[in-house]
Amino acid sequence: MKSLEAYQEFLLKEYSNLPTGRYVNLVIIRETESECIFRTEGSGEPLNRELVQAGIKNTSVIPRVIISKRKQTAVERRTGREMLRSYGLLSVSGSECMLNTNAPCEHCVDCWLYGYAVGGGGAQKSRVITEEAFSVLPAGQIIATKTFNALFDNNTMRHPVTREASTSINSSEYVKPGVHFVDIETLKDVTAAEMVYVTANILNSRRYGAISSKIGRVKNHLAAIVFSRSEIFSTLEMVQQLYDLLIEDTPELEHPLETARVLDQAIKAINILLPQVYGPKKVMTGEKLAAYFKEVAIILEDPRSFLETLTRSYPQPSKDKNKRKNDIE
Ligand SMILES: [Zn+2]
Repeated sequence: MKSLEAYQEFLLKEYSNLPTGRYVNLVIIRETESECIFRTEGSGEPLNRELVQAGIKNTSVIPRVIISKRKQTAVERRTGREMLRSYGLLSVSGSECMLNTNAPCEHCVDCWLYGYAVGGGGAQKSRVITEEAFSVLPAGQIIATKTFNALFDNNTMRHPVTREASTSINSSEYVKPGVHFVDIETLKDVTAAEMVYVTANILNSRRYGAISSKIGRVKNHLAAIVFSRSEIFSTLEMVQQLYDLLIEDTPELEHPLETARVLDQAIKAINILLPQVYGPKKVMTGEKLAAYFKEVAIILEDPRSFLETLTRSYPQPSKDKNKRKNDIE
């Protein structure tokens, strides 16, 4: 890919199971577009929050809402798996690859990239590493509580036969629309094609948490891509640096923040934090990032051959067996 030519030293030419310390860090601003729960529905559990320092300079302590890493990757994996399944590439080994069962296929793109573990011993470490996503603003500004009535079949609060009033009323905390979360997804030792596959999953995932209802719309903005030869700053450092920059020109931050401003300041935050990362590194933003997105969009117009080539790039089921046989001999 033309847009990735300048970053070749941070990408693998072909899949290798030996780590070489090449990192592609996708800095994502997740913006809620509806009320979001990010909890198991109906569980009545409160949203996850952590007390952390607001900024790096600003040392006051605030509660931030967090989205668990499992919640995020599970959604993005499913997005990718739907695409693979639609082209018949989720049953490379003969039987359908099943998520969260004891029988991952061990041969599809999803298994190779996001990893799997089998009780019997086989395992592939995930090369998509995520942390918890943190809200930019404190919990008090972005959370509200809602009461849900459990309606009967006749859509009323009265039992259709006994006419008794329903007593099941649940309240749930939700994140308001227009809230921004910071998240960094790190891809370790991936090829350009694998990077495109994960990028597509992130950009195409629009619904997080509380899947069965009309809530949970999220828009993912890929603010920047940082290529590096060592681990970069954490998601928490990133959200704190961003917070410091935002309050510099608006001391009283209020929900909702303007998305364009959050994205601009996010890039500034990266540039402030990056000198602390030792070793080779390059940041992709602006026009270069737009050119990459354009190439990804063209691939996704008709992704069949791209996905087939990617699938074939891994050790194949039959050859794999021979290899194991050779190893034993
Ligand atoms: Zn699989």
